[in-house]
Amino acid sequence: MRIVWFIGLNPMLSLYFNAGIITNKIISPLKIITLHEGSYSVDISKKFIPFNPAVHQAKDRPASLFIHVQPFLIKTADQLMVLDVGLGYKDDEGELIIHKNIRDVGFDPRDVNLVLMSHLHFDHAGGVVFERDGQLEPTFPNADYVIQRGEWETAFSRSSASYKTALFDVLQRHNCVHFVEGSGCLNQHISYELTGGHCEFHQVFLIQDGNEIAFFGGDILPEPEQLLRKLIAKYDFDGRKAMELREAYGKRAAASGWTCLFYHAKSNAIGKVGFEGNAFQILS
Ligand SMILES: [Zn+2]
Repeated sequence: MRIVWFIGLNPMLSLYFNAGIITNKIISPLKIITLHEGSYSVDISKKFIPFNPAVHQAKDRPASLFIHVQPFLIKTADQLMVLDVGLGYKDDEGELIIHKNIRDVGFDPRDVNLVLMSHLHFDHAGGVVFERDGQLEPTFPNADYVIQRGEWETAFSRSSASYKTALFDVLQRHNCVHFVEGSGCLNQHISYELTGGHCEFHQVFLIQDGNEIAFFGGDILPEPEQLLRKLIAKYDFDGRKAMELREAYGKRAAASGWTCLFYHAKSNAIGKVGFEGNAFQILS
C-alpha cells in the first residue's frame, strides 16, 4: 500500500463530491481529460472499497484511508494517450469505468495508442488488463504501455501486495510493453524522467504540444496540497528523496507554467502552481 493522504472525517468531503468539482475537463491546446475512476476507502486489508459520500459514511469505515483515483486521457495532434490506468474496476453494468469515461467524452478505447505508466503499484496499474468472458486482455489493445524496466523487474523480483504481476504477464504475452530505462524522450513531444522516491524506479512524464507542457508526476506529485507542507511519508520508498522531488518539480512547474495532472487530487485534478516568497500557491 502506498497511499496515505488522509481525508478522514473531513466535512468538506461530501461537498467536494456533491458540488461535482471532480469532473471531466478539457483544456486547450492539449486536450486533457480527467478519467475519474472513483473514491475509495482502504483499511488494513488493503482492499479498495468504493466510497460514495452520498450514500456512505466515513465513520462506518474505521481505520481507513480515503483516496481518489483519476487517470488522464490526452489528445495531441497525432496521439491519444492514457496516463496510468487506475484500479481497473467496473461499474454496475459490468463496463470498465475507464472505458466508459473515455467513451463518454467521444473517444474509443481502441484508439488509445500510448499508455504512460508512472509505476506499477496496484492503484495505478490494476487496470492494465481487464477480464472479458473469462479472459484477461489488455485494456488498450492497440497501445504501447511505456514502463520503466527497473520498475518491471522490481514487481517480479519482490513479493509485495502492491504489485499484481499476473496482470503484467498478460500485457507481455500480448507484446504491449515498451520498456524505457532512465530518462529520455519517447518522441519529439513526450519525455520521461526517472525519479525514484516513491518507489525505486518511479518515473514522471512531460508532454508538450505547442507552447503548453503537461506534467504528470504520478505519486511524486499526486495532489497539489502536498506542495503546501513538507512531508516525509512512510509510504514512500525513499521519503526524503520523494519530499525533495516534490519541491523540485513544484518549482519547475511554477517557473515554466506547466499544467500539472494530479492523480490522487481531492478536487482540482488539473492545475498550475506558483512559487513566490518561498511558498507554493495552487493557482487553479
Ligand atoms: Zn498512488
